[in-house]
Amino acid sequence: MADEKPAKLPESVEGKVLFNVPFPADLRQLKSMSPIVVMQPYRIDYIHSYGQDSPFFAGLANGRLLGTRCGACAYSYGTPRLHCMRCGAECEWIELPLEGSVHTFTVCHFGGEQFLKETPFVLILVEWPGVATLFLSRLAGVDCARPSLDWVGMKVRARFRRLSRFDPTDVYFVPA
Ligand SMILES: [Zn+2]
Repeated sequence: MADEKPAKLPESVEGKVLFNVPFPADLRQLKSMSPIVVMQPYRIDYIHSYGQDSPFFAGLANGRLLGTRCGACAYSYGTPRLHCMRCGAECEWIELPLEGSVHTFTVCHFGGEQFLKETPFVLILVEWPGVATLFLSRLAGVDCARPSLDWVGMKVRARFRRLSRFDPTDVYFVPA
């Protein structure tokens, strides 16, 4: 009442813009109207936190490989855990050698969407002396068509993507 200005929402150029939509004079025809189908791009910014695992990704971005070691029982983790799965105590960060060896491997002929262009590829579990658990990674520089049991125990060296994606795939291994 106090505001005499006519209320009108602003027109927008965002989203769908459709002109000249047919509309029958006889409303009984509406039930036989063809459905309106629209296509529009869909994008979402997905924000999530790496939380206490963040130092691991900071390491990858700096060409360092980090594991953890339990402060109480000294059990060590090639894939970092911030609390010990044996005793529950808090773990400390440790730096892992860039050279390890292949504990086991598999050649993947099917993969998720992210890896389709690189399929087939080799997944390995990397082991280090004195480190109790393994680290899952990719092995490059071998012939996927000729997998060999000689790969088990092979020395491998970590390589890091120059442009970090803050993803576990920022690191991969090649024969040392
Ligand atoms: Zn422990």
